[in-house]
Amino acid sequence: MNDSSVAQKQLVALKRKLDTAIESRSSLEDDFNLQSNLLIQFIGKLTLVSKGIDLELDNRLAQLRTLFTKSAPISEIEEKIAVISKLLQQHSITNRKNISHVHEQFSQAGESLQKINGLPGDLRRDLRTLLTETKEGKDSLIQYIPLLSQLLTFYDHSLKAKSGMANQGILQAPPVTSPENKNAIVGGSVILDAQFLEKISISLGALPLSKAHTSDLLAIKKKLMTNQSSEKVLQNFIDIFDVIVADFKDEQKNAKNFLTTLSATLTTVQSAVKDTIVTQKNSQKANDIINLKLQSQLLDMTGTVEKALTLSQVKEDINEKLQVIANTLEQKSKFEQQNHQQLADKLNDMSAKVEQLEQQSEMFEEKLAEQQRKSMQDALTKLANRAAFDDFFAKSMIRFHRKSFPLALVVIDIDDFKKINDTYGHTAGDKTLQVIANSIVKNVSKGVFVGRYGGEEFVLIYSKIQEEALTAELNALNNFVARLPFKFKTNKVSITLSIGATHIKPDDNIHIAFERADQAMYKAKKQGKNQVIYVK
Ligand code: GH3
Ligand code: MG
Ligand code: MG
Repeated sequence: MNDSSVAQKQLVALKRKLDTAIESRSSLEDDFNLQSNLLIQFIGKLTLVSKGIDLELDNRLAQLRTLFTKSAPISEIEEKIAVISKLLQQHSITNRKNISHVHEQFSQAGESLQKINGLPGDLRRDLRTLLTETKEGKDSLIQYIPLLSQLLTFYDHSLKAKSGMANQGILQAPPVTSPENKNAIVGGSVILDAQFLEKISISLGALPLSKAHTSDLLAIKKKLMTNQSSEKVLQNFIDIFDVIVADFKDEQKNAKNFLTTLSATLTTVQSAVKDTIVTQKNSQKANDIINLKLQSQLLDMTGTVEKALTLSQVKEDINEKLQVIANTLEQKSKFEQQNHQQLADKLNDMSAKVEQLEQQSEMFEEKLAEQQRKSMQDALTKLANRAAFDDFFAKSMIRFHRKSFPLALVVIDIDDFKKINDTYGHTAGDKTLQVIANSIVKNVSKGVFVGRYGGEEFVLIYSKIQEEALTAELNALNNFVARLPFKFKTNKVSITLSIGATHIKPDDNIHIAFERADQAMYKAKKQGKNQVIYVK
């Protein structure tokens, strides 16, 4: 083998090593880009999940996403992640405070019940267990707070009713009804005011519990409506709290898992980002050293050529020097490979955590969406509830005032509905409400908003219909319901509606418009029910 072919071989080998080094560098970059994309997606999801919790958090997440998208320097990204972590921590502190406030309320109500004389032994025991249990697990989700407070008010109300009676010595007395107290006394026990129980039953329907717990709650709700003694009603309340506490616990477990993973992932991301900076700096330094070494070796080679006296001496020297350069390059490639492996490990770790978090945040997102949907839906009829109506109507009015369009409001009230409840029972009443709700949905045009306003009242919002078509459609609905063959036990019963309708006028506000539709409905009642009245 002659000198030049040796040199050529060396050069080929050198080129190969350089190629490997370049390849490994570019695959490292590809990896990094892949992970960045994953992170961008993840931040997108996180933004969705935390949207609306805090404006600042929303903004920070949006900024972080932009930084990733435009491949901003890693140190800048690291700063943003640190701020976001802090914000999330602050949130958990505020949540904890709110929760502990509700918990205090809850404990106080429970303790005042414990002080009541003559509470049955098993109820007292259950109450003690419940209070101990909630003492241990007082973390729960913030969205329950208003509902829980509402329930506590009802509970307090029933408590006052009971203790008021006990003080007057009526609890053990023979059946009497006192005119100043709306709660009837039957067989020596207090039957709570039906209207009050009605209200409880409606707010129970609005509790956004999980599916499993909702059916438990509906079972208790049924019991509540069956004329029980006050002891039984109070027992029902304790059962309701039990169900809510159980739901809290599930919810809390979910939320805890999510927050733990979120925090672990943020920590991993943060440390991976930090490590990347350090590794990059170190590798920059090491590369600089190797490059200097290569430069001096090349310089040395040039010097050799300049100083050499014979060609064969040049060849020999160059071969030797090429060998040294090849070694240096090998060292460089090894170093890069090592560097690559380290980074790849860290990125893989981060990617696994992000993936896990993504799954959890998806679950969480679904749960939030489900709760959001439930909080706008009436549990019995599955129609939009009062809150959803208020929201929709307010938005329609804003649109109307911006640019007028035929916006119409309809109030529907079932005629003599109390009689159905009184004669055939509350369950028959509930079924009737469901059938009528379905009939309304089936008989109105597509795109009409249909909601249950409360009790046996429904509301419709039309956004593109004139008076004539509207009254024709409502009359058809009225006739359809009147002809429905209801059958309770063996009795055939017909149920009718009173319907009031109006179009919104430029000077109307929400209140005036609703009042006019409601007045139209009352006019229908006064004129004999089972009819539609349109008021201009
Ligand atoms: P009118 O023709 O004047 O409207 O008489 P009405 O009996 O329909 O009206 P009233 O307001 O006196 O009674 C309404 C009843 O509707 C009282 C309440 O028990 C019943 N109700 C309200 N919400 C529900 C519910 O969710 N389920 C059942 N079964 N009954 C309900
Ligand atoms: Mg009514
Ligand atoms: Mg009615």
